[in-house]
Amino acid sequence: MRIGIDLGGTKIEGILLADDGSIVEKIRKPTPALDYVATVSTVCEIVRTLQDKSGTQVSVGVGTPGALSLSTGLMKNSNSVRLIGRPLQHDIEALLGFEVRLENDANCFALSEAHLGAAKHADSVFGVILGTGTGGGIVIHKKLVKGPNSISGEWGHNSLPCSARELVKADRQCYCGRINCIETVLSGRGLSATYREQYDENKSAADIAQLAQQGDAAATACIEMYCQQLARCLATVVNIVDPDMIVLGGGLSNIPQLYIAVIDLMRPYVFTDDLQTILSRPSFGDASGALGAACLWPTNAAE
Ligand SMILES: [Zn+2]
Repeated sequence: MRIGIDLGGTKIEGILLADDGSIVEKIRKPTPALDYVATVSTVCEIVRTLQDKSGTQVSVGVGTPGALSLSTGLMKNSNSVRLIGRPLQHDIEALLGFEVRLENDANCFALSEAHLGAAKHADSVFGVILGTGTGGGIVIHKKLVKGPNSISGEWGHNSLPCSARELVKADRQCYCGRINCIETVLSGRGLSATYREQYDENKSAADIAQLAQQGDAAATACIEMYCQQLARCLATVVNIVDPDMIVLGGGLSNIPQLYIAVIDLMRPYVFTDDLQTILSRPSFGDASGALGAACLWPTNAAE
């Protein structure tokens, strides 16, 4: 068995995962607001409860927004500001008294789908989060691709390719300090901004998606535009990684039009005459973070 923890901005979820991929136990607690020390101790409390349930010390993986800097051991790039600059992995290990593995939540999403979900039969997977932010993770032969900067798969902060930029009227400022990052178009806020740009009206991404489902012409056109933007941005990933499968996750992955339109819209922008890439819905909803975190360790803990 393995333990996976999803440390999110509002909740901390822990699961005890059996070797056959079934969830034996699940615990969910609210994330202590703006309190780093309490956050670390809540994570450790959940781990201890799950360890007791398993009856033995099992491996622990933790998924969280942001990344651990390999040079400093401190958290960076996290939208949970309480974690930035903190030695999160070190503090969890110090409190538990044994080694844990810690990964970016988009990487955990990609791992969960590659090991247990939609991409379990695929050799290479690009897992994409389309939600509050736009992130991603790459898994090749069931292993997460990791680099010296801990940013592999973070395509959300690439500049929009020219083919997607031309679909946006005005420059968009990203929170990261850059202009026209992919996230400014493909995140939930990005979809809202596109609607506002087209119709001078504020609507949430969820409302736009729902209106499009009901046949509203303006919302449908906005979703069609989003499909075009997503296709042109994904084409650049396919030209570099050429994954067998792209699995979408996050709130916007529920938009059904994506799975009908995007692959065909990618064709003119991918350097091949016969696009074989599969675009898939995710197998797991909220549970993917904790599942992927558990998969940071092999089932026999031998690697
Ligand atoms: Zn950015």
